[in-house]
Parts: sequence; structure tokens; C-alpha cells
Amino acid sequence: MGLVEQEIKRFEKRQCEEDFIFYQAMEEVIHSIKPLLESDDRYRRYAILDRLIVPDRIIKFKVQWFNDKNEIEVNNGFRVQFNNALGPYKGGLRFHPTVNEGVLKFLGFEQIFKNALTGLNMGGAKGGSDFDPKGKSDFEVMKFCSAFMTELHKYIGPRIDVPAGDIGVGSREIGYLYGEYKKITSRYEGVLTGKPYMFGGSLLRPEATGYGVVYFTEAMLELEGKEPLKDKVCCVSGAGNVALHTIEKLQAIGAIVVTCSDSKGTIYDKRGVDLELLKKIKEVKRGSLEEYAKYHPESKYIPVSEYPEDGHAVWEFPCYGAFPCATQNELTDVDATNLIENGVVFVSEGANMPCTPEAIDLFLSHGVCFAPAKAANAGGVAVSEFEMSQNASMSRWNYEKVDEMLKTTMRQICKRVALTAKEYGVEGNYIDGANIASFKRIADAMINEGI
Ligand code: NDP
Repeated sequence: MGLVEQEIKRFEKRQCEEDFIFYQAMEEVIHSIKPLLESDDRYRRYAILDRLIVPDRIIKFKVQWFNDKNEIEVNNGFRVQFNNALGPYKGGLRFHPTVNEGVLKFLGFEQIFKNALTGLNMGGAKGGSDFDPKGKSDFEVMKFCSAFMTELHKYIGPRIDVPAGDIGVGSREIGYLYGEYKKITSRYEGVLTGKPYMFGGSLLRPEATGYGVVYFTEAMLELEGKEPLKDKVCCVSGAGNVALHTIEKLQAIGAIVVTCSDSKGTIYDKRGVDLELLKKIKEVKRGSLEEYAKYHPESKYIPVSEYPEDGHAVWEFPCYGAFPCATQNELTDVDATNLIENGVVFVSEGANMPCTPEAIDLFLSHGVCFAPAKAANAGGVAVSEFEMSQNASMSRWNYEKVDEMLKTTMRQICKRVALTAKEYGVEGNYIDGANIASFKRIADAMINEGI
């Protein structure tokens, strides 16, 4: 039995139902770093893998709050502080009913590698709650955020752990969380990123993940000798922060985005989606995409109920490139087969681990360029670090400066990943390149700081 197979067998034993998705993320990394482990035995002697797959700590707490009917509600709150070898723990908060320890371990684990790839000094973490902001009033969201921060504030700080947003946590939630932190501690400091601009948020933070995905894709297409995005048809899934800003940047550079989706259905609009309307429906009214078709009867709305369980309508249309930007494991082997048959040239992951391992295998075996999330969507956390720098020096950077720095960071990540893949004999494999480059940076820091 080879080294990698032994590692997987060992980890398999520890697997439990809730940890399935964490295991999926871990398995990908272990496979990728095989050549590195075999070429340098320091990583084994220092037990880097064993130490890296166990979070430094998992904080779990009760969140009690009053709803608008003055009834008491109780939710679970979590913060998984995974690894701080490279800097303060850093990673988003997710508010969604599907949040549990396993999901946050997977996201925190991915975050360590993503943050390392930026070349900046940030460790990895993730947190959140099974609270569902959907259908809640503004006051209820505010009361929940206050109660959540009452516990969380004990464990975070600008040099300790700096949370940000994720699914269900946008600038409204970050604003309420920050307000409560200030009330409790009397400190005006960069303890959260993604804050509203008026109290220390960075320009371009809301756009950063989506814009960054497009900057990364442009760089990858250039390196792989493929045609640029201008005038090309693209499919995007999701209709949240990452999806909307991916669409915005794609449209700005002349690509035609024909799809978007939410948890209830998909919109196909072959003339290109109407972003202004989309933002009104999703950002302002927090409504359903079904409404889009009412304004544009020539577009097509496909409810989730009309689609087979293992495939998704958003991926059945011909396109040059696909940008899955909704959630984990949203693009299956059925979807990958549809995309490949329709001639897809590249896939860039905006969401965290949105493609299943089977889908990825199909893309790679059919020569589709594949940009993995931990590299392609690192723009959000990079601009979060820019926000931390601005807060620490009490300065404000203009839009052009942040945009230029984001673009440079994404191009550097792309180049680093491509070069690493070439160095380790897997040229063109951006998954292995990303995993090896980031693992090396984290592992070297862990070796140098001792245990
Ligand atoms: P949002 O909450 O803003 O948006 C999520 C979107 O995905 C919503 O439109 C939601 O639909 C849709 N969605 C959720 N589940 C499904 C599903 N099963 N099928 C189809 N659509 C679905 O989250 P973000 O845009 O912030 O995050 C999206 C992804 O990007 C996540 O994987 C996140 O971890 C990742 N990410 C986010 C970063 C950020 O800066 N925000 C940074 C890096 C990664 P509905 O409106 O119906 O709820």
C-alpha cells in the first residue's frame, strides 16, 4: 500500500457522517501533495498532515434571542479556529440551517490553504450558525447578531481571529455584529472584515470574490493559450454576493452571462441576464428568481422541482465557461457531462468546493481547464486582508488602488499555482498546483515554529 493510500485509510477510520464533506476536502489535498511528501520526508517526520487535519480548537456556543413575537429562540453557534501558522485566524461566518460542525470544519480546512495561496499572513478559520436569516425581519436579524456576538467576542480580536461574511452573512449582518462587538468591548478596531464602508470597510470588499474569480480566469486562459472572455457565453450559478459580482465583472469585460440560479430555481436568459433587475430582486427585496421571468417573459425560469435530483438546470446550456458560485457539491457528474457535451472550455469555482470529485475527474480527463475554489475565489479574503491593513493604520485606500492590488494578487496566485504544477510534473493541473503550493507554505511555517 502506497503512502497516500495509507494516509487515506487512517483518516477514513476517523470519518463520521457529519464529517463527510470535510473528508472530501481532505482527500483531495492528500492526493495532490503525494509528490511533495515523497520528495521531502521532513513533512512526515514533523507529522504535518496529522497536525494540520485537526483544528486548533472548535468553539461551540448557545445563541438565545427574542423573535418579533417576543418568543425565545435558540440556535447553535460555532467558530472553528483551524490553523494560525501564517497569521491570525481568518475566515467567514455562515448563517444557514445546514450549518454544523462538519461543514465548518470543511470550510475552515479549505480556508487555511486559500489564505496561504494569497501570499499574505493569515491563518484559517470558519464559523457560523444554523440560524436562517431568510424570512426574518431586520430586527430579528439584529437581535440574533447581537446574541451571537455576546459569545463570539470572547474568542476574536484583530490579532487573534478576524471573521468575515459568507452565505447568509452580508454587510447588514457584519454591521450588526460589529456594532455589538463595539458595545461590549468599547474598541473600534478591525475585528471583522466586510464592514460597511462608513465604519472601516474596504472599498471593493463586497465585489472582491466575484471580481477575483474573473481576474483569475483571465490569467488562466492566457497561460493555457485559450481565447479571452470577451463575447463568450458563460453560465453562472447562484444569485448571491459571489454570483452577482462575477456576473458584473464578466459583463464589464464583454462576456455574455446567460444563467443564474437560487435555491428554488434557474433563470436562462439567452440575451444576457439583466443584472440591475437581478440585484433589485436578490439584494434589495431578498426575493425569489421566479420574479425575474415576470419582468422578462422571453427568459426561462426552471424550478428545482422540474429537474432530476442529480443534475441542475443551470448547467444544461451550451457555454464557453462555467462559474459555479452557489454552494458546495452543486455541480455533479451529470452536470459535468452536460457541460462537456456542450463544449465547455473552462470551469472556475466561485463557491467553495462546488464541483463533486466525480465532476472534477470528468473535467480533467476531457481537457477542460479547471480553476479550483481555493485559488480562484481567494480575492475575497485578499481584500479582507487589505481591509485589516487599512484598519490597523487608520487609513483608507481608493477604489483604483484596491482593484489594482486585487488584480495583481489574483494573477500572482494563478502564476504560482501553474508554476508549482509544472515543477511537480502535473502541468496544467491547477488543483494539484494550488494544494502543493499552499501546503508547502503552511508546512514550512509549522516546521519553523516548532510544536
Ligand atoms: P450568498 O448567501 O450571498 O448567496 C448564496 C447564493 O447561492 C444564493 O443565491 C442562494 O440562493 C444560492 N444557493 C444556496 N444553496 C443553493 C443550492 N443548493 N442550489 C442553488 N443555489 C443555491 O453567499 P455568497 O455568495 O457569499 O457565497 C456563495 C459561495 O461562495 C459559498 O460557497 C461561499 O462559501 C463562497 N465564498 C464566498 C465568499 C464571500 O466573500 N462572500 C468568499 C469565498 C467563497 P437563495 O437566494 O435562494 O438562498
